[in-house]
Amino acid sequence: MHMRRISIAAILFATSAIAFGSFVPSAFAKPSDDDESSSGKHKVDMSDVPADPRNELVSLRYVEKHIGEGFKVRRSLHYSIIYNTSEEDVAVFEYAIEKTYRACAKWCIGLDIEVHQPPEKLLTHFFNEYKEYERYSQIVGGPVSSPNILGYYDPTTDYSYFYNVRNTPAFKNAKLQIEETISQLADQLRRGDVSSDQKKAIRRQILALRASQNGMNTFGGDLTEEVLQHEVAHQVLFHIGFHNRQAALQFANPRWFAEGVAQLFEPIDEGGGSGFGKVNKTKAAEFHNLVKQNALYPVDGFVSDINYFFTGNVGGIAYPQSWAIAHYLTRTKRKELKAYIDEINRRDGDFEMTVEGELELFQKHFGKVDDAWVKRWKKYMERVN
Ligand SMILES: [Zn+2]
Repeated sequence: MHMRRISIAAILFATSAIAFGSFVPSAFAKPSDDDESSSGKHKVDMSDVPADPRNELVSLRYVEKHIGEGFKVRRSLHYSIIYNTSEEDVAVFEYAIEKTYRACAKWCIGLDIEVHQPPEKLLTHFFNEYKEYERYSQIVGGPVSSPNILGYYDPTTDYSYFYNVRNTPAFKNAKLQIEETISQLADQLRRGDVSSDQKKAIRRQILALRASQNGMNTFGGDLTEEVLQHEVAHQVLFHIGFHNRQAALQFANPRWFAEGVAQLFEPIDEGGGSGFGKVNKTKAAEFHNLVKQNALYPVDGFVSDINYFFTGNVGGIAYPQSWAIAHYLTRTKRKELKAYIDEINRRDGDFEMTVEGELELFQKHFGKVDDAWVKRWKKYMERVN
């Protein structure tokens, strides 16, 4: 990958298989992360943002030129979606991205950061086939090399790209298998030789499977949805004034910070309402493991040197460590964090990143990163699970 290109896009934490094990409840349930109870300055502006028809047309033609006919544009409140999936699947996708948009805006407002609606709808691509998405990614210089990279945001084009996991054999088979199991269980219920206790157990099993079926109305559940929320959060945070967009390609936004924050948006709805704002349990477990193995990177170097995200154990250490720092600062140093963000946002197009400059900025707002600092951080994180 080109050296000057920010590879926020790379989903380096993608695991070896798409997890279809369990599914979250219906995407069409009322979002519990909504802002109806809040008012005044804490209200998330969810009004419709104008589309950029020229941008849509250019993107649509480009996709059709390279991938083929049959793409359409769907407009949601904040997004233009270039897609060739079924209407049902793009509706599920739209719901998931808008939910993430709202969560991002709400979170920024909670941090007292002045955010704005993007001047135009953001643009994303939603390919029905993995192969189409892979080919297109290669044409636009993206990182896709395996179906495990479910989607990504590319700051160079400013677009995000996803493929339709619901259209994969793994997803369809999982769905089919649930249907078959339910029908087998229903047959057992009809048999005369089944005790009433057994019947109760079977009914419970059927209920659980039906819940899984409902969950399949979401973007795909589990990892799939985590990735969507992570990548959409990157894109949204760049467009609503949270990250510095002007100097994005000059690395004005510390990489640990961009990745750490995006991971705050990964937790999905597991049935008890929206996952937004909850602890990222996956990353917490990984982090605790790293602490146990004494495998963390030195914090002062880590928050100042982008190379930790290019070389070394990027997925295994850099991601969980950046999450743990972001989690800590957003929970314990909110005022300082706002000042840090404000200063990053004042960096202009001439900005040049240096390791010394990044460390100075971090320490100016969060204090000298010495043994005591690291100890306080780890102590706080001990309780985070
Ligand atoms: Zn990321």
